[in-house]
Amino acid sequence: MKSLWDDEIAAAFADDDLAMRVYTSRLLGSSDDLVMHGGGNTSVKASTRDFFGNELEVLYVKGSGWDLKTIEKPGFPAIKLKETRMLAELDSLSDPDMTRQLRALMLDPSAPSPSVEAILHAILPARFIDHTHTDAIVTLSNNPRGEAILAEVFPDCLVLPYIMPGFILSKQVNDAIKRDDPGQYTGIILMHHGVFTYSDNARIAYENMIELVTRAEDYIAAHGVSEHASADLPVDLLDLARIRGAVSRARGCAQLAMLDRTPDAQGFADLPDVAGIATRGPITPDHVIRTKRIPVIIDTRPAATVPEIDRFVADYRAYFAANNQSDLQILDQAPRVGIWRSAGSIAFGSSVKECNIISDIARHTRWAIQTGESIGGWEALPEKDIFDLEYWVLEQAKLGKAAAAKPHQGKIALVTGANSGIGRATCEALAADGAVVVGLDVNRDVVAHLDSGGMTGLVCDLTDSASIATAVEQVVSRYGGLDIVVCNAGIFKSGERIENHTEQTWDQTLAVNLTATQRLLTAAIPYLKLGVNPSILLVGSRNYAAPGPGAAAYSVSKAGITQLARVAALELAADGIRVNVVHPDAVFDTALWTEDALAKSAARYGMTVEEYKSKNLLGREIRSRDVARLLSTVASDVFNATTGAQIPIDGGSDRVI
Ligand code: ZN
Repeated sequence: MKSLWDDEIAAAFADDDLAMRVYTSRLLGSSDDLVMHGGGNTSVKASTRDFFGNELEVLYVKGSGWDLKTIEKPGFPAIKLKETRMLAELDSLSDPDMTRQLRALMLDPSAPSPSVEAILHAILPARFIDHTHTDAIVTLSNNPRGEAILAEVFPDCLVLPYIMPGFILSKQVNDAIKRDDPGQYTGIILMHHGVFTYSDNARIAYENMIELVTRAEDYIAAHGVSEHASADLPVDLLDLARIRGAVSRARGCAQLAMLDRTPDAQGFADLPDVAGIATRGPITPDHVIRTKRIPVIIDTRPAATVPEIDRFVADYRAYFAANNQSDLQILDQAPRVGIWRSAGSIAFGSSVKECNIISDIARHTRWAIQTGESIGGWEALPEKDIFDLEYWVLEQAKLGKAAAAKPHQGKIALVTGANSGIGRATCEALAADGAVVVGLDVNRDVVAHLDSGGMTGLVCDLTDSASIATAVEQVVSRYGGLDIVVCNAGIFKSGERIENHTEQTWDQTLAVNLTATQRLLTAAIPYLKLGVNPSILLVGSRNYAAPGPGAAAYSVSKAGITQLARVAALELAADGIRVNVVHPDAVFDTALWTEDALAKSAARYGMTVEEYKSKNLLGREIRSRDVARLLSTVASDVFNATTGAQIPIDGGSDRVI
């Protein structure tokens, strides 16, 4: 591992300890072999002035919710140093009391809560403290000969046995450094947990960390292998959707199933002994919060019900019963990581962000397991230690603060005609309600328009069946299934009466508005049958019930999809798929309407544009986002008992009523 220290950059922070702390914290955070998703923290001791101008010594320590990779000065709350050290001298202190006292010692009560490892940082007698959960060193300790290996590789470090994080760990280290001056050591290694390095000089603390990690890497290179299995296997997407469905049922809500099919993920899943080596436990206990203690191992071809998931749930309940010695509440029993023997590693979660974190941990874990096996055997901490961290009171408290789930959290949606108007607004509404959304459009701009907040734009020509099938497969391949399909794409050409209707207008209108809808449903239905509360929505038109002259192709196409929806509702009810049509009218903020066309139409009625926009019984203008909110709501469980319905959103039309 290389030091990323840069003299020129660092020179700017020479007189500002906190700025220097931010700089080297980010250097640590930039390597995910050192620090992964909150697994690590840093601090600096400095003097500052309180509100009254009195000078006092404080500890700036990483606050919760900040990541070392991107941390800034406000990510380091200041706490009173002397009093924080006094906490370590207490005989006992419950962890909730510890967090309460640490908050009481903050100079700014609105700052983020200090790390639960703050007391440890306070008692180490150096200004800059660096702490990581680095893979390489922890992997050496997860070994039957772990203690001997660490003693051999790190004779200049203080190595302490594993103990739960929190007050008792601070106490253990406090006792150890009273016996043994930490100044004589390059660092302190906590078995199965991580490493501390420290110095009054920021560069030395940082570079000692890099040096210790490099030694562990060199030991691994000399005694084992760090290049691992690799494979290239085909994936059955219907099987993936089956697995996702089973995990969603186990969790009691929709889950994404993001498959990592990289060569190393597939190589690991394909190992003959994977079920044995992958289920011994996590690299470090704090991963349990994200991944649970072990992954579910899924056979090559999961059966329709995926019995492996049921078995995982039963085993989890047994694990809870065996380890619960008080009156703890059992957490949900669904797996977070799936090792799918034929296809790779799956991350199960409620959002893309959560899945990405789980995927990262799974990738580091399979590296550590295979590396560990090559240097004498992978051995994780006993089940009970992992359980104690999973059910640690401070972790339970974090779970309680989780925001209430949105109506489409964990669901996967596909919307056509997504570049503008109702389609784009629908993508935004579904995403705001928690879904991941893939928006299709023939216009390439869709890629740029939908590239944030759980939305992705995909170029797709709906008049090409192969292109539709590919788009559906891409959605399932990326997120693991499909729950909501909104058929919105449509073209409208007016002014051609039947006697002079061009064949081109007729054919194109039916191809895009009607035939493409059928083709998309054909491609999507096999996956929707495996979806969570699946729903098909078609965007019709007031024209269906109340046609006008000069738009025969458009009106026929909307009548066609309405009939298609009615048949689909009949055919798919037994599979739990709801099919409903929403009929908007006079939605003018769409690509179908130009200012010119709007002015002409208004003139035809002898109205101003404003009057024309709200010429309905309720006298209200209808916008794309109104239609989008309705579509998202009809897809939600509010409409669980509704299928085959036609729902107008037209401000009230006397011709329809
Ligand atoms: Zn730690």
